[in-house]
Amino acid sequence: MFNDYISACFSHDLAIDLGTANTLVYAAGRGVVCSEPSVVSIVDEREGRGRRVLAVGSEAKEMIGRTPGTIRALRPIQDGVIADFEVTEAMIRYFLRKAQDRMLFIRPRVVLCVPPCITSVEKRAVREAALSAGAREVFLLEEPMAAAIGAGLDVTAPDANMVVDIGGGTTDVAVIALAGVVASRSLRVGGDAMDEAISSYVKRKYNMLIGERTAERIKIDVGTAAPSAETKVVEVKGRDLVAGIPKVVQTTSDEICEAMREPVHAIVETVHLALESTPPELAADLVERGIVLVGGGSLLPGLDEVLWQQTQLPILRSADPFSAVVEGAGQVVTNLSLLREVALG
Ligand code: ADP
Ligand code: MG
Repeated sequence: MFNDYISACFSHDLAIDLGTANTLVYAAGRGVVCSEPSVVSIVDEREGRGRRVLAVGSEAKEMIGRTPGTIRALRPIQDGVIADFEVTEAMIRYFLRKAQDRMLFIRPRVVLCVPPCITSVEKRAVREAALSAGAREVFLLEEPMAAAIGAGLDVTAPDANMVVDIGGGTTDVAVIALAGVVASRSLRVGGDAMDEAISSYVKRKYNMLIGERTAERIKIDVGTAAPSAETKVVEVKGRDLVAGIPKVVQTTSDEICEAMREPVHAIVETVHLALESTPPELAADLVERGIVLVGGGSLLPGLDEVLWQQTQLPILRSADPFSAVVEGAGQVVTNLSLLREVALG
């Protein structure tokens, strides 16, 4: 026990959850050491001489929607896959450097979380991105597996567990038993789609354009999946579509609930489809064990209620939906026998 503690303190192994919205890094013996938006801002060099990374993480997110023409804020992971290899590598490099503190000369072993539907080409791409960003050895772990471990479920037991991870770009539903993903469904709808639904509602109803960060703030302040007893009012600032000048309107939580109906319905539908494709023996386990929700999008109030109404299964929220995946991967990077059992080949 004491030896484990000592070796954990001196090990430089890392776990990385490269999410569409946020990247988290876990360092063995230290826990979650960084958590920042998965955003990179790029400046295009003059005369087509390539591009240069200007900022990564929180600093880069601040620039979204506010940059002059030559600077672009990119999200290199889209729909759960690497959309821009070069930029992703720059982002991994930034996070590795940040997490390693002063241990830059030591190349860490890295457990990298990936979506369950990842192709072999994509697997090779993320592995190479991490290696060229400074990792010594890279293991890939499916995100729902990591989330289940992080949420404290026993993934090696024969009993099935269902994990629903609602991230920025995707929702991943997986049934896990005996250290493997038995059934899974992935949907390219998550928190971002809810923000877009809010933007288009405001545009339709109030003839007003709002930015993506404003839409996200409205969702976090008053968004709900089911109408609540108490109606909240929120002020929205944007640009009038016709007059072209700044404008302020008031909207309510009921209107925002209505606006988000479609993405919420799509998520519930995906859970349904995953349940339908679960072998009956394992589906029976879920009646008792229920569904565990993780990911930032699962914080939407009323979502548990809607899912319960539609599935009649107990719905459990993880203690920290943002860090469940990286916490689980962190447990794996420090436990070699578990790593061998659950990592992808
Ligand atoms: P990813 O794993 O794809 O990086 P995260 O699990 O970090 O995604 O979740 C990010 C999403 O969670 C974003 O769409 C964000 O707007 C949403 N989110 C954060 N807080 C809340 C909240 N309180 N209510 C609803 N959605 C939220
Ligand atoms: Mg995630």
